[in-house]
Amino acid sequence: MKDNPSPLEKSTDRRGFIQKAGTLAAGAVVAGETGLWAPRVQSQEKKKLGYALVGLGGLSTNQIAPGLEKTEHSRLAGIVSGTPSKIEKWKAKYNLPARNCYNYDNYDQIATNPDIDVIYVVLPNGMHPEYTIRGAKAGKHVLCEKPMANSASDCQAMINACKDAGKKLAIGYRCQFEPNNIECMRLAREKVFGDLKMIDAGFGFRIGNPDQWRLKADLAGGGALMDVGIYALQACRFLAGEEPVEISAQETKTDPMKFAEVDESIVWTMKFPSGVLAYCSTTYNFSGINRFSAHCDKGWFSLDPAYSYGGIKGRTSKGDVIEKPVIDQFANEMDNFSKCILEGRESQVSGEEGMRDLKVIEAIYRSIRTGRTVKV
Ligand code: NAD
Repeated sequence: MKDNPSPLEKSTDRRGFIQKAGTLAAGAVVAGETGLWAPRVQSQEKKKLGYALVGLGGLSTNQIAPGLEKTEHSRLAGIVSGTPSKIEKWKAKYNLPARNCYNYDNYDQIATNPDIDVIYVVLPNGMHPEYTIRGAKAGKHVLCEKPMANSASDCQAMINACKDAGKKLAIGYRCQFEPNNIECMRLAREKVFGDLKMIDAGFGFRIGNPDQWRLKADLAGGGALMDVGIYALQACRFLAGEEPVEISAQETKTDPMKFAEVDESIVWTMKFPSGVLAYCSTTYNFSGINRFSAHCDKGWFSLDPAYSYGGIKGRTSKGDVIEKPVIDQFANEMDNFSKCILEGRESQVSGEEGMRDLKVIEAIYRSIRTGRTVKV
């Protein structure tokens, strides 16, 4: 199962996005944070931070590990898995030393492993808080997959744990590192088509196997909205550049057996302080929604598909095509986080950013439960 039901990766041209870090002026910060560099190395070489992937499922196998082969500042250094056969397979495939392979019981011993700088949590959503908090307590920076957690209060606990440990936290919002999405952010920010008035965004697909964790409330936290509706929500928030204040939502369940524990299809509207309105949709019951359109007072721009791993493209009301070169979004996302760590700055996809989405998601579920428009 993937977030993206359509054919995925293509080439890996990363022009124009990752800036070349010719010199790392932040050498002193790096040494201070990791304690690993000898002084001579600090001044002369770029360091690739070592990532340990926690959870070796579909995303780790098909996107993240391949992405780590295209990074400049990040490398696969370790793994954490509950399945011994997977550990053996990954060890052989990626030439990983046994000392860098952990299971869920001895995971905390990663604290003493200097090869690992960053934990990348790629487990079912409900497990994100525990493995983020344990990772932070082990003294590692944490990149955690979306959605950050099942609740905003869990997000807060994750943020607190990383702050207490003096470590950075980022969420796997890969679209923020995708050039077509970035171009649309620019069109909105620079008001190329005038003031933004209305956004239409949606993402959905037909989910298969009824026994998978994505349909279990404790592991998934919710259904289509938590899994892929969050992309439409993110798009609206980054296009509007502000936080929604009012939400109204409706859900429909046409298969109450399969979707007994989680949502099947939801539509929701959001009102932003400037008056921008957004109408959004998400589903686990059919394919074909993967887009956003931004309508402004002098024209519009849109992406369709908007959230795929590759092949993202769009149009504008001027007749222009938006189609930037395909890049590896995961490679960009991880390198961006590594650079934030190396340069001692916060990620644009910080834990706080992840928690903002969970607050809106909770408001959407609240609106569905109460049948009312709710404040965020
Ligand atoms: P997956 O089902 O393919 O893999 C989940 C992994 O967790 C498996 O290795 C499984 O063995 C392990 N696991 C440990 N305990 C488990 C338990 N109790 N129940 C089920 N699995 C357990 O899932 P995935 O598609 O790799 O998704 C993992 C995370 O990545 C999720 O948070 C998901 O939302 C996110 N994700 C993000 C993207 C993206 O584009 N950013 C795409 C897919 C998934």
